[in-house]
Amino acid sequence: MRELRTEILVIGAGPAGIAAAVSAERAGARALLVDMQSEPGGQVWRGQWDKPTNRQSRRWIAALRQSPVECRYGLRLVDFAAPGLAVFDGPDGSLRVRCERLVVATGARERLLPFPGWTLPGVFGAGGLQVLVKNGWPVAGKRVVVAGSGPLLLAAASSLRAAGAQVLLVAEQAAAADLARFAARLASHPAKLVQAAALRLRLAGVPYRSSAWVERADGDEQLRSVRLRIGRYSERLDCDALAVGFGLVPNIEIAQLLGCTLADGAVVVDEQQHSSVAGIYFAGEACGIGGVDQALIQGEIAGRAAAGSARLSFGLRRARARSERFARALDRHFTLRDELRHLAAADTVLCRCENVGYGAAQVCRSQRDARLQTRLGMGHCQGRVCGAACAFLFGWDAATPRPPLAPVPLSCFTASPTEENPQESP
Ligand SMILES: Cc1cc2nc3c(=O)[nH]c(=O)nc-3n(C[C@H](O)[C@H](O)[C@H](O)COP(=O)(O)OP(=O)(O)OC[C@H]3O[C@@H](n4cnc5c(N)ncnc54)[C@H](O)[C@@H]3O)c2cc1C
Repeated sequence: MRELRTEILVIGAGPAGIAAAVSAERAGARALLVDMQSEPGGQVWRGQWDKPTNRQSRRWIAALRQSPVECRYGLRLVDFAAPGLAVFDGPDGSLRVRCERLVVATGARERLLPFPGWTLPGVFGAGGLQVLVKNGWPVAGKRVVVAGSGPLLLAAASSLRAAGAQVLLVAEQAAAADLARFAARLASHPAKLVQAAALRLRLAGVPYRSSAWVERADGDEQLRSVRLRIGRYSERLDCDALAVGFGLVPNIEIAQLLGCTLADGAVVVDEQQHSSVAGIYFAGEACGIGGVDQALIQGEIAGRAAAGSARLSFGLRRARARSERFARALDRHFTLRDELRHLAAADTVLCRCENVGYGAAQVCRSQRDARLQTRLGMGHCQGRVCGAACAFLFGWDAATPRPPLAPVPLSCFTASPTEENPQESP
């Protein structure tokens, strides 16, 4: 097992992590950036390392390329062997990193909710299918329904169409009045307004329905059709794929492992992005869902603060206030409707890893109780999917994860470390 030392360890190389690492170096500290993907970019800049496609990604990818930040990819944080000693694992073995300060920027994941047929082959997470398509999954000529909630649906539908899919419909569960209020809010975020208009243009001719959601998916060994509720009517659509996602939820496992304070399913931070635990900062969607602008601003603040440069410029404070207003609007206008809590039948699978049905979970009192009685959330994904669904369906708090955060070989903890390229303290 290899071991490294650094002053600031940044976990997650999405927009927030890139901004944090670059800003920490600019403020005079030594930073090490680690991500479990094979290259930086996170969710929104996936595949852009060699070909950035917009002004923001061009700026920050160039900044990372030019900075002395040391980067390691293909390594997933699985545990902390001691305070300030992070343990990563990857296909080429494990790595331990000793650090003085930590910035965690591990983003968010999709919320998937159960409905009859949601585990059929051909049903994908909306962002998940977008990721597959960006990595070359063939969808040309396929009839795809996109459903769920939030702006990600449009981004996913646009990527699918660009890859040759026939997008039959985008079904948004939010009501038209909420969408109109959200659109009015965008007027004070001109860049986002332009982005949204461009997406709608790229989806010209694709019906976009509000107050619409999938009630069930049907098929044999493959999805054949979906039944949608659209306002007061039900409609069946034949299709080859369904891309469905009900917004995003912050990745909080590392915060839970470190004992950081959480509120409403996100990490609580102060003005400097400092968490409730000394020396540990969080940035980006782990602190709440707010999009790429908010991730960049928080990353910049966290990186500078971790490097000891705590003064925030007026511009940065103003940008943060704007991005927070946008995040609040997202949260308010895409609130999930109550009907979505009642789509699953007793025999609908809720935890796919352990094959636990909705009916078996419904009679439990908490996530912990469900774990003990049914093994819900104890399989390979460790409750990453069903945990967020249970929080929405039953109002349960997320169960505290046990290390390691992902299955790892025993050698990850038993092999003795060999120190590699120790970074000198400045
Ligand atoms: C599936 C999906 C698709 C999305 N697509 C879009 C889109 O097309 N357009 C858009 O505007 N927004 C999209 N978003 C929203 C997007 O997440 C944010 O706008 C933005 O990327 C947030 O930046 P971030 O740095 O906070 O997180 P992210 O970009 O998510 O970056 C987090 C990084 O942390 C890494 N990581 C997580 N856990 C670990 C660990 N344990 N060890 C090591 N590394 C770890 C991840 O690999 C990732 O690279 C998408 C979100 C999701 C979940």
